[in-house]
Amino acid sequence: MKYERNYAFLILALLLISSTGGTSLAQKAMSQSSFPKPKNVIIMIGDGMGYNCVKAADYFFGPMQIESFPVKLSAATYPAKSGEYKEKDTTKLSWSVGYNPALAWKDSLYLKKDFTESAAAATALATGRKSYNNVIGLSVTYDTLLNLCELAKSIGKSAGVITSVPFSHATPAGFVAHNRTRQHYEELATYMLFRSRCDLIMGCGNPEFDENGKNTGPKWASAKFVADSNLWLSLKSGSGIQTSFIINNKIYQVTDVNGDKIPDPWTLITSEKDFRKLMYGKTPKRVLGVPEVHSTLQQSRDFGKNETKDSPPFTTPFNPNLPTLAEMVRGGLNVLDNNPNGFFVMIEGGAVDWANHDNQKGRMLEEMKGFSDAIDTVIAWVNKNSSWNETLLIITADHECGNLWGGPVFTPVSDNGKNKMPGLKYNSRDHTNALVGVWAKGKGAEMYNVLAGQTDPVRGRYLDNTVIPQLIFMMWGKPVTF
Ligand SMILES: [Zn+2]
Repeated sequence: MKYERNYAFLILALLLISSTGGTSLAQKAMSQSSFPKPKNVIIMIGDGMGYNCVKAADYFFGPMQIESFPVKLSAATYPAKSGEYKEKDTTKLSWSVGYNPALAWKDSLYLKKDFTESAAAATALATGRKSYNNVIGLSVTYDTLLNLCELAKSIGKSAGVITSVPFSHATPAGFVAHNRTRQHYEELATYMLFRSRCDLIMGCGNPEFDENGKNTGPKWASAKFVADSNLWLSLKSGSGIQTSFIINNKIYQVTDVNGDKIPDPWTLITSEKDFRKLMYGKTPKRVLGVPEVHSTLQQSRDFGKNETKDSPPFTTPFNPNLPTLAEMVRGGLNVLDNNPNGFFVMIEGGAVDWANHDNQKGRMLEEMKGFSDAIDTVIAWVNKNSSWNETLLIITADHECGNLWGGPVFTPVSDNGKNKMPGLKYNSRDHTNALVGVWAKGKGAEMYNVLAGQTDPVRGRYLDNTVIPQLIFMMWGKPVTF
C-alpha cells in the first residue's frame, strides 16, 4: 500500500469516514475520484513575509485582497534540521523540535531558534517533504524529491516560476531543481535551463546590469545567477532558435516541453518593452525573462540622499526601464495559459525578505506593494481568463524575517493611517520560526480547512507547510509518499 503512510491523505480519509459515518466516501477518496481537480494551481510566496509585513502593508496602502479570501489559515515553517545553514556537514545540525504554540507566545526568544531558510522552505512547499536548511529539492537522505513543476509536466500541464530576485535563487530553484546547496547558483541555473521541462522562467540575475539597472559595459557584474557569461551571450544571440549550448566545454541541450520529442528553445526577453509585449496576444512557446537589473527589481537600488532605513516607501525614485512583478506575472500567465491542460506556477515576491534582513521598513513596504499588485493581477486574470472553479490560488510565506513587531516582541503594529508609516520595530536581522499566513481561494481551497488540524492560541488553526503541496499532489493524482 503506497498510500498507507501518507499523513495528510490519512487525515482526510479519516475525516471523511467520521463525517459521513460510512466508508463509501472514504473509499472514493482513496481512489481520489472525489478530490477536486483544479486545472491551474498558482502558489504565491512572499519571501520573509511575516504577519506583521501584511499588517503594515494593510495599514499603509489599504487592506490587501487576501484579507477577504475565503480560506485564511497559518502554516508552521520549521525545517527537518536547523542550525547554521551554511554548515556543509548536516550531521552537525540538530533535528528541529518543530513549532510549539504555547512556548511561541510565552518566551520571546523561542522563535529565534530552529528557523528555516528559503531553500528548505521552498523544498517543503514544492515537494511536501521537509529537508535540511540550505538543501534544494532533496530529502534528508539526499534522494531527489518530485516537485510541483515536475508533477505538472508529468500530467501534461505547463509549469513555471516568476520572481523579483534572481531566478536561480533558493525559492524559485526549490520549485524546479535539486542540489545539496542553494549556494551553487551556476549548477542551479544550468539545471533550470537545461534539465527542467519548465515552460517559463522569469527572474533577475542579468549579468550586464548593476543594482540600479545601469548597463555596466564590459565590466560585468557576476554571471553566476545565469550560470555563465558565455552561455548568457549565446542565449541572447540564439534566442528562440538555438537548442545546443556550451558551458565550460560541456554541451547542453534544451529539453522538450510538450512531449513531441523536439527540443524547445528558450526565447530570452530582457527589455521592459518585451515584458510588456508579452502581457497580451500571442507569445513564444517557451520564455526566459531576465529584466535589465542585477539581483532585485528595486530593493537593491542605491539609497537617495533623503532616504534612511525608516523612510516611507518610494522616497528614492525607482530604477527606470524595468517591468514590475505584476507585469512579469501578467506576461507569464499569458505564456502558461497557451496549454489547454492548464498549468502550475510559483510566483515570488522575493525581496520582502531582503528588505527585512536589512531592517529597511520603507523598502519592505515597497516590496509588499509590488507583491500585493502581483496578487491583484493574478486575481484579475482568474476573473477574466479563467474562473475560481478551475483555478486554485494559494498565497503564503516561506518564513518570517526580522522578528518584526510594533515595538518589542509581541507589541502589535500600530496603524497611523493610510500613507503614514505604521509603528514598526525590527527585533532581529534574521529569520524566525513564527507561523506565517496561508490564504487560499478557488477550486479545492476549502480542503485546507479540513487539513489544518493544529491550533495556535493567537493565529488560530494552522497546518504544516508541507501540507500545502501534499493536497495538490493528491488532487493531481500522485500522493506524496514517505
Ligand atoms: Zn532570508
